[in-house]
Amino acid sequence: MHKNFYDQQLERVNTAKLRYIEIYPLSGMPQLIAGFTTRFGGVSQGDYATLNLNFNRPEPLENVRENYRLLSEDLNIPLNNMVLSHQTHTNNVMVVTKEHGGMGIIRPRTYTDIDGILTSESNLMLVTLYADCVPIYFFDPVKKVIGLSHSGWRGTVKNIGGQTIKKMVSEYGSDPSDIHVSIGPHIRDCCFEVGSEVVKEFWDNFSFAPSYIKPKSEDKWVIDLEGIIFECLIRQGVDKKRIYGCSICTRCNKDTFFSHRGSGGKTGTGAAFLMIRG
Ligand SMILES: [Zn+2]
Repeated sequence: MHKNFYDQQLERVNTAKLRYIEIYPLSGMPQLIAGFTTRFGGVSQGDYATLNLNFNRPEPLENVRENYRLLSEDLNIPLNNMVLSHQTHTNNVMVVTKEHGGMGIIRPRTYTDIDGILTSESNLMLVTLYADCVPIYFFDPVKKVIGLSHSGWRGTVKNIGGQTIKKMVSEYGSDPSDIHVSIGPHIRDCCFEVGSEVVKEFWDNFSFAPSYIKPKSEDKWVIDLEGIIFECLIRQGVDKKRIYGCSICTRCNKDTFFSHRGSGGKTGTGAAFLMIRG
């Protein structure tokens, strides 16, 4: 087993309003702010209740804007100091700087099709969005670089986790064995049921895939995305002692997290956030 599991409190009460999940061990590091939002504390209604952070949902834009304002106020980080990815299930990873501050949230992006973002700048919060897909957090304490990548099943097949490590090496000279990688809440193998076409994609790409795919019924399988991501990271040179899993399944806890599978696709998205303190 390549997994280090740590119990995570399901509802970490940060303030009276919003609640976050701590990301072990990054949330405990004094130089970082790291977390994952829950549904609590926002203004959205119905299927999007309450802290939907996705502007591409059929609900009033002012609700999403207000949710970001609440997040900004609660974390005490100006929206100008946050950068949002543009997620389309690619394995594209981009370096962002202060020049990108506010993009995707309070001003238009200058980039598209970016599922992973990296920075070495302090006071610049990386933000990526989720409703079951796997959030991957990266931190190189030697080169002082952070990253966030969105790894749904398509991104996992394209090895966005490994691509992010490669980019940290090429852009910042990171040594993969220095990098801490933590996984956030996502749909786990209790719930991530797929058909043969998805299984084939994994089998075609990874020799180790059969160890992480189990039959569920005659034509359904369940996939352990986290396990596959771990294998890819280890092959990229990450030390398995620095890879940390997350035992929380978003679909099993759909009252706490937005879950695409748990809602028949009608849902909002929560966010992973990561920042180097100034
Ligand atoms: Zn589950």
